[in-house]
Amino acid sequence: MIKEILPGIFQIEIPLPKNPLKALNSYLIIGKDEFLLVDTGFNRIECKKALFEALDSLDADLKKTQVLITHLHADHSGLAEVLYKKGATLLMEPGEAQRIKALSQEKNWETMKEDLKTFGIDAGEDFFDDHPGKIYAPKGDFTYQEINEGEYIVIGDYSFEVILVPGHTPGMINLFDRKKGIYISADHVLETITPNIGFWGYDQERMLEKYLNSLGKVKDYPITVMLPSHRGLIAKPKARIEELMAHHEERLEEVENIINGKSAPLTVEDVARNMDWRIPAKSWEDFPLPQKSFAAGEAMSHLEYLKDHGRIKAYWEGRVIYFVSNA
Ligand SMILES: [Zn+2]
Repeated sequence: MIKEILPGIFQIEIPLPKNPLKALNSYLIIGKDEFLLVDTGFNRIECKKALFEALDSLDADLKKTQVLITHLHADHSGLAEVLYKKGATLLMEPGEAQRIKALSQEKNWETMKEDLKTFGIDAGEDFFDDHPGKIYAPKGDFTYQEINEGEYIVIGDYSFEVILVPGHTPGMINLFDRKKGIYISADHVLETITPNIGFWGYDQERMLEKYLNSLGKVKDYPITVMLPSHRGLIAKPKARIEELMAHHEERLEEVENIINGKSAPLTVEDVARNMDWRIPAKSWEDFPLPQKSFAAGEAMSHLEYLKDHGRIKAYWEGRVIYFVSNA
């Protein structure tokens, strides 16, 4: 489905089959004989078909198209290499670009399994075999142009400032036309979904802290409409940002209570098992493995925040990290 939501800005709905996110909003912005595409969909046939049919019907010439990848997740980056091979220019934040390239490397997933072991999760051989980030990532190599915080992308009547909003991933990019109040929020702010704030390895600490700071950074921007990557447009961005901030404060209290409610030290998995999740699984053991890794990451980002703010304590025993009450 294609909708012109603002003059020259087309929202392309890319289906994400069998994924709880259901669909991705790609945006095509049409300038004077040039195009800017924001995000691509998974590297799978249903996404490719929807995207290319839309680009065709909007007469987008890929050789005159810049493709901005907001962040590394495969529903956003999956078709980057396919578009590159057809002549498009890729724009990526440099750290995020390296992480996108790593998605197709086995080593990346081995490291993630090692990290899960520190959470108390025994991630077996096939743990990531069904992970969308592994299956639907860009497969071949590509080159890209770097984009960084504070730079501008001018297209047609629009002048988009590049806004760096680490949190959901370490180097996510948003776009803001300050004059027109149009903000492309990727997965930083979503209307009916709470963006997952996870764990990106022990060299990428404090993701929840960074996310809350990134929400604070955007909260008072003069935004009239926010264009997110999933579900509908956000008419009241400030109110939604405040809701997300409150959600994480509640989540932090929930995790703190779990730690304080047990006298024994807990692993990340123990905490995740005791948190409330809105997913259709009967117990922690029934979580699909990709959901298990997202949930454990979410637990870890909150545990780390509580530890950094002196609300709980952490210690290592062998290769496993444990959390315990301050009391
Ligand atoms: Zn994402």
